Amino acid sequence: MIIDREFIRYQRQIALSEIGEAGQAQLANLHVLMIGCGGLGSAASLYLAAAGVGRLVIVDDDEVDMSNLHRQVVYREQNVKSNKVEAMASQLLALNSMVKVRTINTRLEKAQLELEVMLAEIVLDCSDNMPTRQLINQVCLEQKTDLVSASATGWQGQFCVFDYQSGTEEQACYHCLYPFIELQQTRNCTTSGVVGPVVGILGNYQALAVIQKFATGKFHLETSKLHLFDGLKMDWKVMGIIKDQQCSVCSRNKGVPVSLTE
Ligand SMILES: [Zn+2]
Repeated sequence: MIIDREFIRYQRQIALSEIGEAGQAQLANLHVLMIGCGGLGSAASLYLAAAGVGRLVIVDDDEVDMSNLHRQVVYREQNVKSNKVEAMASQLLALNSMVKVRTINTRLEKAQLELEVMLAEIVLDCSDNMPTRQLINQVCLEQKTDLVSASATGWQGQFCVFDYQSGTEEQACYHCLYPFIELQQTRNCTTSGVVGPVVGILGNYQALAVIQKFATGKFHLETSKLHLFDGLKMDWKVMGIIKDQQCSVCSRNKGVPVSLTE
C-alpha cells in the first residue's frame, strides 16, 4: 500500500506495467546492503534512493579525497576529507528523505558481515579489492542472499548477478570465477586510472538489477553470467561462468579450503 505523496513522486515508475503500485511497495519495504562507497556505490546508491528503496545500509571506512571526485559523483568538494558514509548519507537523504540510511564507517569483519547480510534482502558489492569480494561472496552464498557484483578499471567494467536465493547447486559463484584469494588486482584505479562514466554505468547496472528483482519480482537478466563492458567500443559481451566442481566455497566436493579473512 503506498500513500499519496509516494504515488506522486514515483508515478513514472508506477506507470510501468511490470512495476505498478505493488512493485513500488516492494521497493519501499526493501533492505539493501551496499559495501563500498566509491564510484560504483555513488551511482548505485543515488538511483536506489531516488527509486524509493526503503532502507540502505552503506559501508566504507574511507574519507573523500579530491582525486575521487571525477567518478564518485555523490560527493561534493566540501566533502573532501570527510568520511564517505556520512557524506553519502547526507546526499541520499537530501535526494529522498523517505529513505532510511544507516552508515557503517568501518571494514566489516566476517561476523559483522554475516549479521548485516542476514538483515538484508540483497547485497551490492561495490568494493575495490579481492579479499573483500571473496568474503562477501562466501557470506552471501552461505546465507542464500542475492549478490550483485561489479568492478571497473580503465575503460573496462565487469558485472555479475549471483542468484543465491533461488539458484541451483549447479550455478557458479564468484570464487569459481576468481578462485585465488591471494590474487590481488594487478590493475586498479590508482595504478591504471579509470573513466568516470564507465564506473557509473556499472553502478547503474547494479541499481537496475535490484529494481528488477524487487519491483518486478524477478531478475530478467541471465544470472551467474559475466557481463563485460568495453567503454571504448561501448559494447557488452556476456560470458558463461563455469562452475568449478572443486570450488572451495560453493562445491560439495570442496577443494583445499582457503581462509577468506586473511
Ligand atoms: Zn564457487
